Amino acid sequence: MLSYNKIYEIENKINSKEELNEDDIVYMYDEANLYDLGKIARKISYSISGDNISFVSNLILNYTNICNVRCKFCAFYRTDADSDKYSMSIDDVINEINKYYKYGIKQLLIQGGVNSHLELDYYLNLFSRIRSEFPDIGIHGLSAAELNYIAIKSHLSIKELLLALKDHGLETIPGAGAEILNQETRIKMGRPKNSGLEWLNIMEQAHKLGIKTSATMMFGHVETSLDKAKHLLSILSLQKKYHGFLSFTPWNFEPGNTELGKEVAYRSGGSDVLRNIAISRIVFNSELPVIQSSWLTNGVNMAQMAILFGANDWGGTIYDERVIPATGKNVGNLRKEMIINSIRQLNMIPVERDNLYQNIKYY
Ligand code: SF4
Repeated sequence: MLSYNKIYEIENKINSKEELNEDDIVYMYDEANLYDLGKIARKISYSISGDNISFVSNLILNYTNICNVRCKFCAFYRTDADSDKYSMSIDDVINEINKYYKYGIKQLLIQGGVNSHLELDYYLNLFSRIRSEFPDIGIHGLSAAELNYIAIKSHLSIKELLLALKDHGLETIPGAGAEILNQETRIKMGRPKNSGLEWLNIMEQAHKLGIKTSATMMFGHVETSLDKAKHLLSILSLQKKYHGFLSFTPWNFEPGNTELGKEVAYRSGGSDVLRNIAISRIVFNSELPVIQSSWLTNGVNMAQMAILFGANDWGGTIYDERVIPATGKNVGNLRKEMIINSIRQLNMIPVERDNLYQNIKYY
C-alpha cells in the first residue's frame, strides 16, 4: 500500500512538472514496481515523440586501444607492452570510413584510449581530413578523458582545445566517461583518475561554446541507488542551464575480461536495464528529450523492450565496434534495415536522424 501511494505521489509530481528529489529516485530504484515505472516512462516518451523512434546511421571508430588510464572496468585498453596494441594513422581512419560510407553513414563516433604518443596535430589533422572528405558525416568525438589529456599535453585550456577541435570539424562530444559521477564510487570501481567533476566541467564548457554532447551512466557494478540518483540529478541540473545534452544513455557494466569483473562477476539482468531506462526517462522528462536504448550492451531484443519502457532513440548502426567485443561479448554488426524492422515490429515509426538529432527520413 505504501509503495502504491508513493508511486502516485511521484506521478503527481511529474504531472505538475515538479522536479523529483533523491528520495523519489532511490524509491524508484529500490521499491517501485517495474511495470508501474515502465507505464509512466512510456507515457512521457509518447508525449515527447509519439510513436517515432529515431536511429542514426553510425560508424564507431576506435582509433587506438593504447590507454594510460587503465580503468578496472575496461577490457579494451592495452599498454605499450601488449602485442595487440594498435593506433590508426590518419590514412587508416580514412580508409576505414571509406569501407562503410556506402551505408549512408551520418555520424562518426570516434573514440579510443588516452594515448600519450598522439599529439594535438594528429587530432586536428584527422578531423580536418574527415570533414573535407566526408562533409555529410557529423564527427561525434573524444571522451572527456581523452580531451582532458590532450589539453594538458598541449598546454591548452579545455576551452582552447574545444575551440581548436571545433574549428577543425568536431561537431559533438560523446558522454562516455561519466560512469558514476560520485568520486568515492569511481575510486571503488577503479577509475581514480578523471573525476566526476572533471567530466561535468568538460561538458559544461562544451555547452557554453555551443558544442552539444551526450550523457551516460554506467550501472550494475559497485554503485548504490543514491549514487545513481545524484548522478541523474547532476546531469539534469546542468541540462537546465544550457540544454547542451542531446541524449542520455544508461548502460550496464560488462564484466568479461576486466579487473572489476573479479569482484562483480555477473552483468545486470534485463529488469535492471529496463528499470534504469524507465527511471532516466522519468527523471529527465522533457528537459532531456532523448533516451537511448543502449542496444550495444543489451542486444536487439532488449532494445525493443527498452523502447516500451521509455527509450525513444534506438542508437546507431554498428560496423566492427571493438570495445564491447573486448569483454568477450559477441556484438556482431547491425545494419539500418535490421533497426527499421525491429522498430516496426513494435508498431512504431522508425525515423532516421543525423548526428544533431535532426530527422532525415521516416520509414
Ligand atoms: S574506459 Fe577509456 S579511459 Fe578507461 S581504460 Fe578504457 S579506454 Fe582508457
